Amino acid sequence: MDIMTKLKILGEGADQEQELNVHQISAGSKNPSSGSGLPTCFMPQHITQPRERHRNPAHDKRFLPGGIHTCPLPGGGSTRLLKVLQTNICEFDCFYCEHRASRDVPRTYVSPDELARTFMMLHQRHLVDGLFLSSGITKRIDVMQERMVQTVEILRAKYHFKGYVHLKILPGASQAAVERSVQLANRVSLNLEAPSPQHLTHLSRKKDFLDGMLTRMVWVKRLQQQDPNLVPAGQITQFVVGAAGETDRDILSATNQLYKQIGLRRAYFSAFSPIPDTPLDHLPPTPLLRQNRLYQADWLLRFYGFKIEEIPLTPEGNLIQEVDPKTAWAMSHPEWFPLELSTASYEELIRVPGIGPTSAKRIMEIRHKSVITGPREFTHLGMVVKRATPYVLYNGRLLSTLLPQTRRKLTQLDLWSASSNPISKISLTPKENPSTIPPIYEKEVL
Ligand code: SF4
Repeated sequence: MDIMTKLKILGEGADQEQELNVHQISAGSKNPSSGSGLPTCFMPQHITQPRERHRNPAHDKRFLPGGIHTCPLPGGGSTRLLKVLQTNICEFDCFYCEHRASRDVPRTYVSPDELARTFMMLHQRHLVDGLFLSSGITKRIDVMQERMVQTVEILRAKYHFKGYVHLKILPGASQAAVERSVQLANRVSLNLEAPSPQHLTHLSRKKDFLDGMLTRMVWVKRLQQQDPNLVPAGQITQFVVGAAGETDRDILSATNQLYKQIGLRRAYFSAFSPIPDTPLDHLPPTPLLRQNRLYQADWLLRFYGFKIEEIPLTPEGNLIQEVDPKTAWAMSHPEWFPLELSTASYEELIRVPGIGPTSAKRIMEIRHKSVITGPREFTHLGMVVKRATPYVLYNGRLLSTLLPQTRRKLTQLDLWSASSNPISKISLTPKENPSTIPPIYEKEVL
């Protein structure tokens, strides 16, 4: 089998992984680049147009294997990753996975030398900027982890590649292999898939949540504590959403605990999608909206100062789907609003739907220097005026009244009196919204 055919098989195999960031999804908005609200990197975007200045039809034909994805960067622009498996041969039986041992799919393996050489060929032709490397798991787990490590060692030592490498830590990998992975990669990840050992039993018989996975994540954290320069892009994980009977509360509580106790850089959420000939192929796919709401709630935890117990949930423990979590929180806290923009603190401003960290900072800066005369100026500061209007005043006046010709569209009354108000679904009392996750996390591993 030639290398491009292998990369096609192994690149498609890596499609289950989400990568980099979802900076397009703010706490209260949809991903503008995706009508579905799906993070850009989750969509398999096989490169069809390399950078214009390097475009060459001959190269296009010859050097565009599967597995190349464009991913947005936090500060704008994008990068291209070769997302690939070292092998899709797997002895494990994860119930949701296309590569589980019992499935009849083409299997292949690429050696460290072959993969490193091919990656560099693509890199030198400006088709890829970085590598995302994962693998199926063979009987001797460490063999595959070592193959992945060897691939990156060749890239770093032989080809002097200094770019981005994201290396997967396989469940059950040895401490030595984890340590070497952390020394070589910019980012490492180990996908927990489920928020607790109990939930994981619905997804896999062979994966060991505590010993096989969480313990490895703790090793990474300890290595980072010893040398803060290691894995500068941090450690991440991913959850399959909607296949293990878990609630959003389960996922968010686990995520929150991982942020606090393991120093997790971020969590990814992957809506379950049934694969034919797997034990879960009878389950319906998880709506992408649920995945998107989880990202929005996660954003509130990481950047908006929300505590886990403040995230609005239904009595069943799920995020309401009709509005984003920040709007749901604002609608269920009328005592906070309307907020006076001319005097509100930063912490208060970022609680307003339509105001994010950047626009909050800008509002605070400019209000000391000049008088804001109308909604358009707030728009220029980054505020989404239409969303914020029901919740704010400026110098004692509703934004909609600052300009006489501006038509009033929404007021507090419009929201609070709506008979179909989705906040009626929210449960916020501490008893109904417990934020704890199984103490087993802390006692047995951390
Ligand atoms: S370990 Fe599980 S999720 Fe990973 S490739 Fe094997 S079957 Fe799939």
